[in-house]
Amino acid sequence: MKSVLGPKVVIGIEVGIVAALTGAGLFAPQGLKVWYAALIQGFAMVTLPVLAAGGAVTWYSERRTVRIQGPRKGSMLAYRGLRDTALAGWIAATLLAWPLARIRAGEPTGLTWDLEQAGGPLAVFLQTAGGILVLDAWLYWKHRLLHTRLLFPFHRKHHGYRDPTALAGFAVGPLESLLTFWPVLFLAMPEAPHYGPVYFTLVVGFIAFNLYLHCGVVWHGLEAILRPLSFNTSSHHNRHHANAETHYAEALTIWDRLLGTWEGAKHKTRREQTVDSV
Ligand SMILES: [Zn+2]
Ligand SMILES: [Zn+2]
Repeated sequence: MKSVLGPKVVIGIEVGIVAALTGAGLFAPQGLKVWYAALIQGFAMVTLPVLAAGGAVTWYSERRTVRIQGPRKGSMLAYRGLRDTALAGWIAATLLAWPLARIRAGEPTGLTWDLEQAGGPLAVFLQTAGGILVLDAWLYWKHRLLHTRLLFPFHRKHHGYRDPTALAGFAVGPLESLLTFWPVLFLAMPEAPHYGPVYFTLVVGFIAFNLYLHCGVVWHGLEAILRPLSFNTSSHHNRHHANAETHYAEALTIWDRLLGTWEGAKHKTRREQTVDSV
């Protein structure tokens, strides 16, 4: 696909995003010392466990003899995956720094460990189910948008991992990181209570799930559970890396089914938005 934006413009926008998100701490009401300490804390909290888990899943998966795309033909791009993941972790940390700075300053946040304060069990259940559905629909459409002629240059990096490893799971550019992680900002809003145990379970589950989607092998027991529940699988997402015209799902495959982007679907929608070659 021929890019609308030149490489220099794309790099300029990406550098601008990193600079703006990092520099925003200068205006933090808690003071820049508190905010930048929160940024470093957030970066360590997010990036180190993801890199460690990604490395462990990659090490284990690469030892498996049966891989989805067959014997690996080129490099698994491990170093590039570590570097790209660290940059995505930095973007996530610039967002996480806002609620962390509030915690450091003793201010209320959108995180509560009190079930009643979160609205009670029924409200937590309904908000969680609704939130997952809405957020996942957004992630599907974000992915579709990133495959348009205008925005694909910001997503191309992720498709450099044609035969991915777990280290490619979060190897995305600054714009894509921002479009993915921005809901973290809700944690800075006391008006939007999130029940801690459920929230952290979902975050850890999302990270583990994303590492599995990119590991390059199939764990049959897990696929047998995920597929009937319409959850994405390693085999489903691997097809997106091998053939970027289909399978845009993040967590739920219902969007691919409903919107005609399932491989082999009779009516593929908006084929002009898809990538001819990456
Ligand atoms: Zn991917
Ligand atoms: Zn893609």
